[in-house]
Amino acid sequence: MKPLVTMSNTTIKTIKNGHSNGLVFEAISNPKEKFPTVLSDAEKVELITEKFADIMEILGLDLTDDSLKDTPARVAKMYVHETFQGLNPLNKPEVTLFENGYQYHEMLVERNITLHSTCEHHFVPILGVCHVAYFATGKVVGLSKLNRIVKYWAKRPQVQERLTEQIAADLKRVLQTEDVAVYIDAEHLCVKTRGVEDCASSTVTSHYSGRFTEPATRAEFLGAIKG
Ligand SMILES: [Zn+2]
Repeated sequence: MKPLVTMSNTTIKTIKNGHSNGLVFEAISNPKEKFPTVLSDAEKVELITEKFADIMEILGLDLTDDSLKDTPARVAKMYVHETFQGLNPLNKPEVTLFENGYQYHEMLVERNITLHSTCEHHFVPILGVCHVAYFATGKVVGLSKLNRIVKYWAKRPQVQERLTEQIAADLKRVLQTEDVAVYIDAEHLCVKTRGVEDCASSTVTSHYSGRFTEPATRAEFLGAIKG
């Protein structure tokens, strides 16, 4: 019989200089990114499958059961390819800018962007919406890229405050402007389903910079996302 807990000696290799596979990590980084792994996605899936099987065995689950036997691999694939895909810099969306040929200089608001993230303290979902806005300088961006930027930063273990700042910083970098607003309203399943078990509350975080620090501009943005 397999020992209950296998302490694998497979040490996850880490590097500490902020670079991995030639990729530079972000200024507002998650704790883990200070020690990015150099494992491939396939290696991560294999290792997580082993470890998650250990967790299930420790909980007393029968891994020979038809319904459970594939769960460790299923969870591992979900973590690497879906839930935490934003931890792999190769998944960062490529953003192409276009000339602002329409001479549109008003506020652009992309509202109700679906936000699915994961609480890094409890590894349960954070579910909500993200609204972003900017004033175009000389360039504009394809609208779906705004959704993709939000998704990339959400798909990793997160706290909502950091997520808000990371999205804002990336939008400023990509759009080449300080005139950016980000507003997140999200429910944390660690609050809803455990601990205080509060099903009614949600958490709001925001970032305003450039022209969005002016009260009238901020009010216009808030009006647009509530409308
Ligand atoms: Zn939590």
